[in-house]
Amino acid sequence: MKNLVLFGPPGAGKGTQSEKLIQKYGFVHISTGDLFRWHTKNDTPLGKRVKEIMNSGALVPDEITIAMLKEELDKNPNAKGFLFDGFPRTVPQAEALDQFMKANHSAIHFVIALDVSEEEVRVRIAKRRTTENRADDEEEKLNKRITEYFTKTIHVLPFYESQKRLVTVHGIGEVNTIFENICKVLDK
Ligand code: AMP
Repeated sequence: MKNLVLFGPPGAGKGTQSEKLIQKYGFVHISTGDLFRWHTKNDTPLGKRVKEIMNSGALVPDEITIAMLKEELDKNPNAKGFLFDGFPRTVPQAEALDQFMKANHSAIHFVIALDVSEEEVRVRIAKRRTTENRADDEEEKLNKRITEYFTKTIHVLPFYESQKRLVTVHGIGEVNTIFENICKVLDK
């Protein structure tokens, strides 16, 4: 089993595709967004620290995010493969992830970026707002999240591209078609 980073803006379909990939390949799913939401929902000390930041739509500082991720990796020493969803979002996070993988005599084997335009992302999140009621999908927060992606997170792409580890998959269209295109990359 190999390790995969699934990359894309908020609303790109990372969650939907992750579910299908886990079912097919048995990855251990690590979504830093889900982990932070769990902490805020359960009012843990970490949840208390990040609640305001998350609700503003800003990125949680690297130091906190990387520590949480490391803890999650340590909980799964026998995982055959990880699927990272929403992590890394900054170059220091990507570097930390490589170090953690190396320490476990492993690596990030695939980085798949779901290519979805800003316009499409806004339409999808507007829809999701009516069904999921996520605090960070509210309009003014959404603007901040999209800005965070296009000003900070996007810089992670050249990091992986320069190492020839990046594959872009068109992220608009039928969920199953997008899924098949991701599988083709993984099964090569
Ligand atoms: P997501 O569900 O992945 O869009 O994440 C929801 C929120 O959690 C983001 O808007 C950030 O506030 C925070 N978050 C999730 N993952 C990260 C990360 N890798 N780095 C910093 N903040 C993150």
